[in-house]
Amino acid sequence: MAGPRRDLWHRFATYLKRYLAHAAGLPQRLFAEHARLSFAKVAEFQRRGVIHFHAVIRLDGPEGAGDATPGWATSDVLTDAIRLAHANTAITSPEVDGRTWELAFGEQIDIRPIRPADAGQVEDDRGVITDDRLASYVAKYATKGTGKSEAVDRRIRTQADIDRLKVTEHHRRIIQTAWDLAAPVPCPDCHPEGFHTAEGCGCEQAQYCATCNNGGEVTRTVLWHRLHPEQVDKPDPLDALKLRHWAHMLAFRGHFLSKSRYYSVPFRQIRDDRRQYRHEEVLTELGVTDDSITVINDWSLVSVGHRTPEERELAAAIAERQREARKHRHSIERKD
Ligand SMILES: [Zn+2]
Ligand SMILES: [Zn+2]
Repeated sequence: MAGPRRDLWHRFATYLKRYLAHAAGLPQRLFAEHARLSFAKVAEFQRRGVIHFHAVIRLDGPEGAGDATPGWATSDVLTDAIRLAHANTAITSPEVDGRTWELAFGEQIDIRPIRPADAGQVEDDRGVITDDRLASYVAKYATKGTGKSEAVDRRIRTQADIDRLKVTEHHRRIIQTAWDLAAPVPCPDCHPEGFHTAEGCGCEQAQYCATCNNGGEVTRTVLWHRLHPEQVDKPDPLDALKLRHWAHMLAFRGHFLSKSRYYSVPFRQIRDDRRQYRHEEVLTELGVTDDSITVINDWSLVSVGHRTPEERELAAAIAERQREARKHRHSIERKD
């Protein structure tokens, strides 16, 4: 993608490390030698269509959860750094109609330190999230149906799909805007004046145009490469957002469940078997892909044990998967 990564969360994480390094009196490049920052988050739609993140952010010694946290890394220092990073993180939107927008987090932020007693609800004594506890959370998350209520459960492929949607006008406008922003543009070769209409344009009777195959329109990226030949390996910045692909999700293409790689092991196991779970459909619709998977959540709301049939079902599926994995390992060992 052209320019800096257009990802608010990624930028936030960078700022957070910067502020923490500053608080510790460390040059930023030495931060990793002194501490490790890891996070896990869940994205959730609010009714008005904006995304709300629940994030768990933890600060450990350089080796991670098993390592002693440096003396300077107090809960207050982390809280202050989060507040600063939240307030100062901004990205610039791609250019639309000749201008750009500064995009930032909303003002609402609620930081709650997770005390060691609460952390035990999701992780073991080594600081690793356990399957069972994670299952409790994922089940809670999945049954909440994030995405179902505020977004549309199927990809938008045509304007007619939008017209047929049974959603609020507010959500329809968001979806329509995403659709329109990613619209093809008039072909620079056969429509240099910039107007193509599907009917009555007459361009299809004109001489063959290899640029648009006489369609009269091209993607923004084709035009982008025409205007920026040196960036031939990059898509148009708006195209890069894949707004039509994600229009049904109100153009949110981020991953709904994500965490830094230090948190990734337990969930990777879940991913491998996720077809067993009731929420598989949700995950698929949310666009969670193999290289991105990851989980997490709002630790303070998790309790120990299974409160609902969904949680039990999920936990049982995980246990079954572990048995299968053991059997599999066993059979491989025997063959050796
Ligand atoms: Zn053309
Ligand atoms: Zn035309």
